[in-house]
Amino acid sequence: MSRNTGANWLKRWVTARQMALMGYVTRIIILETGLTDKQVRRLYRDLEDEGFKLDKNRTTRTTRSGATLLLNQLSKIHASLLMQLYRQVGGESVATSISISALDRAYRMYQALLCEMAVIDPAIRNVTFTISDAWCLASELRSEEAMFETCDSCQCDFFTSIHQSTGIGCPFCYEAPNRSKHSTFEVLNNVEKRTLVTVAGTKPLLPDENKIAAASSKDEVLAVAK
Ligand SMILES: [Zn+2]
Repeated sequence: MSRNTGANWLKRWVTARQMALMGYVTRIIILETGLTDKQVRRLYRDLEDEGFKLDKNRTTRTTRSGATLLLNQLSKIHASLLMQLYRQVGGESVATSISISALDRAYRMYQALLCEMAVIDPAIRNVTFTISDAWCLASELRSEEAMFETCDSCQCDFFTSIHQSTGIGCPFCYEAPNRSKHSTFEVLNNVEKRTLVTVAGTKPLLPDENKIAAASSKDEVLAVAK
C-alpha cells in the first residue's frame, strides 16, 4: 500500500469514526467514506470496545428525503433553521458538496436551540431531525433537488424541496386556516413579548404588556396565550 493510499484510508476511517459517534446510520457512512459494510461494522465493534455507546437505530436501510421530512409547516421551519445554520457554517460550497464538519457544527447549534425551546414546549421534540435527516437534506441541496427561496411577503429565506409533501411555501409567515390556539409559535411569541417587557422595564411597549408582565411563571404565560 503506497503512503498516499494509506493516508487516504486513514482519513476515511477517521471520518467514518466521527460519523458513527455523531449517530449517522450505516448506509450514509458507507456512502460518504466508501468503506464496506463489514469495515463499518468492525469500526462499531472497536468503538464499543472503547466504551462508546452507539445509537441502536444505526443499521436502518432506508434514508429519508424531502418527501418524508418536509410534511408540514413545523417540519419546514425545522429544516429551514437547520439548513440555514449549515449554509452559514459551510458557505456557498454546500451547494456543490456535502461538508460533514459543517453539518456537524450546524447540527450541534440546532440541538442547542431545540434544548432551549423544549423548556417552553416539550412537543418541539416530536419533530426533531436526526443527523442522518440533516445529511439527507444536505444531499438534496447539493443535487439541486432542494434549495433556498426568499419569501415575497416576509423576506425570510426558507428551505424547500421538490419532493416535499406539503404545499406550504414560506413556513415563517404561513397561517393555517384552523390553526391551534396553543401552537408553538403563539407560545414563543408570548415569551418573546415577555422578554421585551423585562428588557424595557416599566416603559409600555406592547398593548397587552400588563397581562404579560403579570405572568410570572411559564404556565401563566401559557394561560395568557389561550
Ligand atoms: Zn414568509
